[in-house]
Amino acid sequence: MRIGFGNDLHRLEDGEKLILGGIEISFKTGSVGHSDGDALLHAVTDAVLGALALGDIGTHFPDHDDRWKDSDSSIFLAEAARLAREMGFEIVNVDSTISIERPKLRPYIDEMRANVADALGVEIESVNVKAKTGEGLGEIGNGLAVKAEAVVLLDSKSD
Ligand code: MG
Repeated sequence: MRIGFGNDLHRLEDGEKLILGGIEISFKTGSVGHSDGDALLHAVTDAVLGALALGDIGTHFPDHDDRWKDSDSSIFLAEAARLAREMGFEIVNVDSTISIERPKLRPYIDEMRANVADALGVEIESVNVKAKTGEGLGEIGNGLAVKAEAVVLLDSKSD
């Protein structure tokens, strides 16, 4: 078995799209990023790549490459899952937490889980997504940033 950890932080600014877990959420601020700025999918992608000891999302999809500008981040996650399978691993489960002050993410959680599961090629029961606020403190609490953290467990298919 192998474990991987990923995290990601994006600035939130007026007039940007807020995309989390593959869902565009209607809100006054959104995440600044080269791709679609989806902090959750970036964190899970980094967790899978981390478990494989294959570097990070920037190694595979450099932000100076125009191919990935405004890109749908599920492409990155699906590619990380493909690499895992190619190396003989299956994805056992994913746990993750998004930290954002507003909006409340509860209505979107199950759709996010489904999107992460689809990109990884696993069942929704293998994916957990949690949401927290910043309790009014710091960059999260003041609505200046969104953060996501994820852990993933991989198992060798031959077991
Ligand atoms: Mg990112």
